[in-house]
Amino acid sequence: MTNSMCREREQNPLPPKHWGVRGAVLTGLVRILATFLCVAVPAIMAQSQPTVGEPLPPWEPGMLDIHQINIGKGDAALFVLPDGTTMLLDAGATVRDRPPHYDAPPLPDDSRRPGEWLTRYIHDFHPDGEDGALDYGVISHFHGDHMGTVTDDSPLAESEAYRLAGITDVGNAIPIRTMIDRGWPDYDFPEPLDNRMVNNYRDFLAWHAEHADMDIERFEAGRGDQIVLRRAPEDYPGFALRNIAVNGEVWTGEDLEVRNRFPEHDPPSENNSSIAFRLRYGPFAYFNGGDLNGVIPEHAPKWRDMESAVAWVTGPVDVHALNHHGFRDAANSFFLSVLQPRIHILAVYAASHPGPGVMRRMMAEDIYTGPRDVFMTNGLWDGRRPHLVDLFGEDDAEWLEEQIEGAAASQGHIVVRVEPGGESYRVIVLEDSDESRRVLSVHGPFESGSGA
Ligand SMILES: [Zn+2]
Repeated sequence: MTNSMCREREQNPLPPKHWGVRGAVLTGLVRILATFLCVAVPAIMAQSQPTVGEPLPPWEPGMLDIHQINIGKGDAALFVLPDGTTMLLDAGATVRDRPPHYDAPPLPDDSRRPGEWLTRYIHDFHPDGEDGALDYGVISHFHGDHMGTVTDDSPLAESEAYRLAGITDVGNAIPIRTMIDRGWPDYDFPEPLDNRMVNNYRDFLAWHAEHADMDIERFEAGRGDQIVLRRAPEDYPGFALRNIAVNGEVWTGEDLEVRNRFPEHDPPSENNSSIAFRLRYGPFAYFNGGDLNGVIPEHAPKWRDMESAVAWVTGPVDVHALNHHGFRDAANSFFLSVLQPRIHILAVYAASHPGPGVMRRMMAEDIYTGPRDVFMTNGLWDGRRPHLVDLFGEDDAEWLEEQIEGAAASQGHIVVRVEPGGESYRVIVLEDSDESRRVLSVHGPFESGSGA
């Protein structure tokens, strides 16, 4: 359809008089068809193609969207699954004591709470808009950059049953049908989780279970039926989400069998207790392992390397979110050599993300072959450089700066949009300094499974 044809139609709105009634009917049909071709077809085409400078076109049935949302405060990812089932993984809103500019700035700014920004983002991309509920809320582990630090400044919910911070802020505004974490119902592994943040979260769960029909479950390693398509699973048989690990237990690959990675006298840390899962959609595969560790000091107990334990049963993936934000204790060589990600997504919010060693391993062609691209939610914010020098020394700081500047993207919300069926996908970076949802760059399409 060319613009000249559309313009021509506009210039000749009426049929010649000698055509008569049949001619007029025919012309009417042609006009309807032309209107469709000129208006509807470009609209449909425009909808499916993200365009730099324009807002991200809406999700459509069959697509799988994974949004790594950047509000500068930790991890939060919105999943819109092929049948419109929705899942929020983490709602990081960390508050911590660090020197100025060590952590990334709040985004879009500090005029709202992080949980409010997350809520507004979810409203914009939920298939049901502002009326949409989240089918699943998942907390990878109990740290503020994944669930929201509670402080004296955190306001009370209208119910006065809990304070609003991170996941409780989002869940107060958007109904969450099923909440899944690593601690339900006792929150006593590896020891009682008795702190203000977890206690507030438990108050939130109790209130919503009683007043809003929220289901609450403990994430169970090995299961393939805990997070499922809720709307039309029969239409998308190629979709599967497999629970890989939690609380130091790792799926063996056989039925529901799991193996504990830790001896009783040295249970996993909070980070190593993280939930890990693999999502598949046709040939497309994605991994997220929260803040799992894989690089440990030379004389530390070897079981504290969780990444190696989850790698083989996970297998190659197209896209992964770097464990522990790409901090120096993550992304070991064995893990990367097995997962072989085409796309690395880093949820960066501190000067220490990523460590230079992690960056070198991600890019190393002797760890795995083939092309790969790095996407970061935050890059070189004002005041970060002196912290890079303090952390890594002048040479590595300079090298890291070059890598950040040369990354596929180093600022924005990062959206992986998988085409219906999962054969290919794009990575789309969105503006994060305002709520325009404007596309900053489009990468791909990439062929799924090409790294496997
Ligand atoms: Zn974290």
